[in-house]
Amino acid sequence: MRIAVVPGDGIGAEVVPTVLPALDLLNDRFGLGISHETFGWGAERWLAEGVGLPPGALDLLTAEYGAVLLGALGDPRIPDMAHGRDILLGLRRGLDLYVNHRPFTPRATGRSIDLFRENTQGLYSGVGGTITQERRTAVAIDECVYTRDTVEKFLRHSLRTLSDQGRERVTLIHKSNAVPNTGRLWQEVFRAELAHFPGLRGSEEYVDSFCYHLVRDPSPYEGIVAPNLFGDIVSDIGAALMGGLGLTASASICPETGFGLFEPVHGSAPDIAGLGTANPYATAVTLTLMLDHLGHPAASSALRRSLAEAVRSDAATPDMGGHGTTGSFMAEVMRQLEKDLANGIDAVPGGGSHG
Ligand code: ATP
Repeated sequence: MRIAVVPGDGIGAEVVPTVLPALDLLNDRFGLGISHETFGWGAERWLAEGVGLPPGALDLLTAEYGAVLLGALGDPRIPDMAHGRDILLGLRRGLDLYVNHRPFTPRATGRSIDLFRENTQGLYSGVGGTITQERRTAVAIDECVYTRDTVEKFLRHSLRTLSDQGRERVTLIHKSNAVPNTGRLWQEVFRAELAHFPGLRGSEEYVDSFCYHLVRDPSPYEGIVAPNLFGDIVSDIGAALMGGLGLTASASICPETGFGLFEPVHGSAPDIAGLGTANPYATAVTLTLMLDHLGHPAASSALRRSLAEAVRSDAATPDMGGHGTTGSFMAEVMRQLEKDLANGIDAVPGGGSHG
C-alpha cells in the first residue's frame, strides 16, 4: 500500500513531517506494508509554475497509490485559494471521493459523533456564473445541484457504516422549507434508505435549529448525514465543541474504489505558521482514520491511546492548554507509543503485539 503525502502550505507543511515517524513506527511494528512518498503540491508550486494538481496526477494516484495524506492548503498570497480549489476539488471530484467522514467528540459529553458530509455536489458543484456590468458584479449565481444517484450512494454508505458501528440514531440535516427541491430529494432518499437499516432510528432537522440544539446539548446525536455545505459548517461547530480546530480530522473516500483522502479539518493557519506551535494532534488523528480505513485497527488504537496520554502532558501545544510545541508534542506521542508497543509485545506470550 503506497500513500501519497501532500504536506501543502502553512502549518500543513509543519505538522505532516512530524507525524510521519509515528506511521513509520506502526508500519514497522505491525508489519503493515505501507510506504509513503511526498509530493510538493501547494502554494509555492502554484506561484512559481501555475500548477495546482499536476497533469496526470489523478491517473498516477489511481494506478499506484491507495490513499492521500494531506496537510493543509491556503496562502495569503493567493487570496481566492485558486490553488486549493484546483488541488482539493480536483482530488475530490476526480477520484469521486463523495463521502466525507468527520468524527468529533464534544468535550461536554465525551461521546463521539459521526458526521458524514456529501463531498462532491450541492453548492460546491461549480455550476453558476457572474454577470459583470461596468466592471462590477451585477449578478452572481451558484447553483445547488444534486443527482439522485449520488445522494443514494452517499446515504447508503453512511447508514451502513453507522449501522456496522452499532449506532442507533441518525439525523438528516436539511433546509427543505427554504431550499425545497434538493431538500425534498434528500428527505425522500433518506427515508427510503433508512428502511434497509432497521437498527437505525432516523430523525430530520432543519440545519438552523439543528445547530442550535447541537451547541446546547450534543448528547442526543450519534450519526449525522448532511449535504455538502451544511456538513462543512457543522464540522467546524463540531471542532469548536471538541476544543479547537487543531483536534479534528476527516476522511474523504470513494466506497467503490476504496481510495481515500485523509486530512485535518483545519486550514493552513497563516497566523501561527512558522511559530512551531501548531497542534499536530488533528493530523495524527487523520493517520488513525487512514489506518482504520486500510484495515489496521490495532495500529490505529495504539496511536489513539498514545495521543490520549500525550494530551494530558505538559508537552501539549498551547491550544490544548500545554506549554509545548509541534515537535515536543509529537516527541511525547512517540515516547508513549514506544511504551505502549513494548507493553503490548510483553503482554502477548510468544511475541507479537496486541495493539
Ligand atoms: P485557511 O485559509 O488555510 O483555511 P484559516 O486561518 O482561514 O486558514 P484555519 O487554518 O482553519 O483557517 O485556522 C483558523 C484558526 O484556528 C487559526 O487562526 C489558528 O489560530 C487556529 N488553528 C487552526 N489549526 C490549528 C492547529 N493545528 N493548531 C493550533 N491552532 C490552530
